[in-house]
Amino acid sequence: MATADNPTANFSPDQFLETIALHGGTTPDPTTGAMLTPIYQTTTYRQPAVGEHKGYTYSRSGNPTVTALEGRLAAVEGAEFATAYVTGLAATTVLCLALLKAGDRVVLSQAVYGGTVRLLKQVLEPFGVESEFIDTSDEGALAKALKEPAKFLFIETPANPTLKLTDIALAARLSKEAGALLVVDNTLLTPALQRPLDLGADIILHSTTKFIEGHNATVGGALLTRNAELHEKLAFVRNAIGAIQAAFPAWLTLQGVKTLPLRMAQHSANALRVAQFLESHPRVEWIAYPGLESFPQYELAKRQQKSGGALLAFEVEGGVEAGVRLMNSVKLCSLAENLGAAETLITHPVSMTHGDVPPEQRAAAGISDGLVRLSVGLENPDDLIADLDQALKR
Ligand code: PLP
Repeated sequence: MATADNPTANFSPDQFLETIALHGGTTPDPTTGAMLTPIYQTTTYRQPAVGEHKGYTYSRSGNPTVTALEGRLAAVEGAEFATAYVTGLAATTVLCLALLKAGDRVVLSQAVYGGTVRLLKQVLEPFGVESEFIDTSDEGALAKALKEPAKFLFIETPANPTLKLTDIALAARLSKEAGALLVVDNTLLTPALQRPLDLGADIILHSTTKFIEGHNATVGGALLTRNAELHEKLAFVRNAIGAIQAAFPAWLTLQGVKTLPLRMAQHSANALRVAQFLESHPRVEWIAYPGLESFPQYELAKRQQKSGGALLAFEVEGGVEAGVRLMNSVKLCSLAENLGAAETLITHPVSMTHGDVPPEQRAAAGISDGLVRLSVGLENPDDLIADLDQALKR
């Protein structure tokens, strides 16, 4: 059984991902045989004697349902250690508090989730942490930024919402040479489509809110690593600030992981169909989707991703006004802030997810005012195409 000390006890790296997603890292409940790890809805754990316990003392430090999720996440990501958090941003916060102190510097991708920028610039900068946002897809810019000491390089690839890619193996080599850790936000592709630890990353971050849980039911986050010392630091800070995931969302997330490889394959196949439709539509000015041959970094996408993923970005002829009209006219796609759900979600990043990113940084990152982000769900793609087609005709 997976325990607090050994969360990946049932993980066999030789199995295929579909199998690991169902069985890796945790087993049916050893006391009752319950197939699903129960929801351990408890604050504390009765101890047999002073100084003795069964691995759990208080649910801010650890909870068996959360351990089961961590074991499964570590197994699917090919990591050895995982910590689960109450949100993705709580995971980013713990990462920063565990690795940084006043006077330290970090380098990040210019196009990242808006909340990551807000955390670094508006919360951590006043505490003396310097952050530099650069175009991490540009080898020269990356090498230059890493000439000055940095604690870690944080990349998001594909980047939300531009879909620009960063070469993970190159970023790993350059950050190692510079003595910096490499952190990869793997939220958009998940381990089903991209394996950053195998390409040299030190830590992976997830907003499990997205594809990992996958059903628009929870918010959550995770940090994964193969490095025991880093894991200890993360677990310590998580306990110190109280950022652990709760038992019920952990349980729901664990159910989501079981179908992750199947869902990601279907999300990706659907997104490719929708992207091909949009690419050939006369009213679409441009479209970015890593699975299209027209995508500027198509060769890199083929090298480091299993397929294009579920997200695409595009702009309608007529700019912001036309994009807004489209988003207000769709019927099947839902206008919403999230991505990575079973249902297709359409978003206007500039007024929604990336509203707190300074306009100059948005412009430099290629987040234009008319950019429309589509997180393609699991509906039949023909229905999605029909919906977008009627909205584009308005
Ligand atoms: N990373 C990425 C790529 C995201 O898109 C998000 C949220 O949209 C986050 C991190 C933050 O996660 P959460 O919303 O679960 O706090």
